[in-house]
Amino acid sequence: MQISTQLPVHRHQLSQVQCSPEERHQYRDLVDRAVEARTHAFAPNSHSMVGSAILAKDGKVYSSGNFELTPYADHGEQLAVAFALADGQSPKDLKACAVFVAKEGGPTPEDFHKQGNMTSCGNCRQAIFEINPDMHEVLLASDGMNVEVYRAGDMLPHAYHRERTLLPNPASPTSDNPDPLIAQALIARSRSFVPRTNEPVGAAVETVDGHIYTGIRVETSSFSTQAERVAMANAMMHGENQIKRMVIVGGGSPGGEVPRRVSWDALQAVAQQSPEAQVTLPDGQGGFVTQSIKDVPGYLLAHS
Ligand SMILES: [Zn+2]
Repeated sequence: MQISTQLPVHRHQLSQVQCSPEERHQYRDLVDRAVEARTHAFAPNSHSMVGSAILAKDGKVYSSGNFELTPYADHGEQLAVAFALADGQSPKDLKACAVFVAKEGGPTPEDFHKQGNMTSCGNCRQAIFEINPDMHEVLLASDGMNVEVYRAGDMLPHAYHRERTLLPNPASPTSDNPDPLIAQALIARSRSFVPRTNEPVGAAVETVDGHIYTGIRVETSSFSTQAERVAMANAMMHGENQIKRMVIVGGGSPGGEVPRRVSWDALQAVAQQSPEAQVTLPDGQGGFVTQSIKDVPGYLLAHS
């Protein structure tokens, strides 16, 4: 027997945010960036391809598709937020978010007229609310031309909320490490957003083309990104999936930088696509050790 998953959607009247014509123009472009980001989605499980784009106050746009590795999936908004923070943006400087989803093979013209294709899932809405409740959620209006703009906090009435303390991340005394990939991973670690565990993690990958992409741990009530998955997704969203080397650093103090756990599925994915890849990890004594990805155990216990 088939069970329909169709749900009644109640549309509440929400006040839109008043925007200048320039902002509306900028936000309409942001929707296009989300539509474009969808082409980079990696969704072999759900076949539901999502594109998300986040606009920062300085005008920079961070975009991502959804990224499904094993049964676990990073949503596009979660990755776009992580890319922005890894690039040094602060949560309060993330200004607006746009999303577009359509099934594999699409989009059809009708996809652009369904507002449900433009709204974040509840999981991402919770995350965005905790990162910056004043961020704007941008929807394409039903005419397909204009935008509707809402405040993220207003999109989540009666929101779940717990007081947490965001401790300053430890300075990275070795971020001037002569190994540029280690240096980038340490800088990324210092940009982690980890109010739940206060255990920052940063990762950096170098592709065979010589480009470096970073990832960080971002924690909210509804999701936690894994830095190494974010770094890998960051490379893949730029069309690069051949990894030469990956660095993962956790903890806080020098010598305590061994990540408590390394994502098994991120390592598997790198190992499958780039069997010659190497992984550099802290050795627990203030140094680093580089080994073949095939020799890295799926889980590592912290030395501290
Ligand atoms: Zn989502």
